[in-house]
Amino acid sequence: MSPGAAEKVFWLYAQLPAVCPARVNFLSVIEAKRDGQALSGAQLQEIIRAFTAGQLPDYQMAAFLMAVYFRGLNTTETRALTLAMRESGEVLEFPPDPRPLVDKHSTGGVGDKVSLPLTPLLASLGFRVPMVSGRGLGITGGTLDKLESISGFNTSLPAEQVVELVQRVGCVICGQTERMVPADKALYALRDATSTVPSRPLIVSSILSKKLAEGLDALILDVKCGAAAFMPTFDEGRTLARELVDLGNECGVHTRALLTDMDTPLGRAAGNWLEVKEAVACLEAGDSEGDLCHLVVECAAHLLAQTGRAETLELGRHEAQDCLVSGKPRQKWEEMLAAQGADLVEFKRRLGLDDTAGAVAELRAWRAGFVRRCDARILGEVIRDLGGGRLTKESIINHEVGVDRLAKPGEWVDRDAVLARVHAAKDLDAETARERVASAFEISEQKPEVVPLIREVVSGKP
Ligand code: URA
Repeated sequence: MSPGAAEKVFWLYAQLPAVCPARVNFLSVIEAKRDGQALSGAQLQEIIRAFTAGQLPDYQMAAFLMAVYFRGLNTTETRALTLAMRESGEVLEFPPDPRPLVDKHSTGGVGDKVSLPLTPLLASLGFRVPMVSGRGLGITGGTLDKLESISGFNTSLPAEQVVELVQRVGCVICGQTERMVPADKALYALRDATSTVPSRPLIVSSILSKKLAEGLDALILDVKCGAAAFMPTFDEGRTLARELVDLGNECGVHTRALLTDMDTPLGRAAGNWLEVKEAVACLEAGDSEGDLCHLVVECAAHLLAQTGRAETLELGRHEAQDCLVSGKPRQKWEEMLAAQGADLVEFKRRLGLDDTAGAVAELRAWRAGFVRRCDARILGEVIRDLGGGRLTKESIINHEVGVDRLAKPGEWVDRDAVLARVHAAKDLDAETARERVASAFEISEQKPEVVPLIREVVSGKP
């Protein structure tokens, strides 16, 4: 069928009343995409509307997704799909307020706990932060899982409460509400089950539809590249970042992206509770030498510059760093935890414990030298297999397991120095994991070249 004819057939069906089951005939749309034709905005809107309303069967949507996987979507189609997905449910609506609405989104990695200290830092800097986050799957961790290691903390909030907390506290970290971008929830599950997750237009529309539903003024994206990232190569990461930044800006959100390394875990701990502890240490010490605090400050500095709150990025860095060490974000963090139901007494008690998993095994350096490699993928797999990550969406996770005290590339270690500690439920698990963790490390005589954490900044086109 020619492109014009396919669209006419589609429109004839689309004109039928919504209650009429015959309206939903999407074969012509699937065929058009299968044959490499561009779809109209109306066609994409109708697909999303019908799928969300349960009028398009999963098998047809799966075929459509596979057609998109192979044929792609152009920028106009990606924009239409993104907006249709955003419109599939409720959009957060905030009252007028001089404090800009901002957020950060990471494509995910191992040890990536930036959202935890960044959110209260941004609120302390005078932003409003409606941070809608996700769960981990596979080797990449999820912010909600980390926060759910805090007893009582509630990540499941209705939209009205999200707005109320953002207005009152300045920030909230929660999951997508039931009614927010329902199209993405259903589509993501289908993509996961049909091997169509790694499609750039589907990733772009999935990420941005959720961020656009937050009603943001500015967004900083952390696009991770490397062995443990969604985008294994720098070039793939850069292309994804460019598409996200351009579409975000086109849709009225001032968007920038940092391309950051994910060959090595971020920080020195990975595993849900261990990462919460490291995030609190960042809020307490504000150690700008460490990669975690460095990235937290950079994200805040960019948002200050993007919203015109800082005249230059350099001034933004100073403001963010000063605020981080002032202690205000640490207080804001507790205010946010309390507002979301956390038991602060129990939280502080557990912070003081060295191990909560049950068993600890230390990996010690077998020779003196420089750490050349600390492989995020291997460590992510070990943590997942210890029970800290999900093999399927239904897996129950153990929040306490993980690794900490990681030695990082470029650092000198003496023979017998600790390279990592494994936290596991049982001694046998800890011992087995230690052997696998050893394969993540390389030690060499020569000091290695260490790639910078932030490899590039992708800004909107002037
Ligand atoms: N994160 C998302 O939210 N969606 C994707 O498709 C990939 C990563």
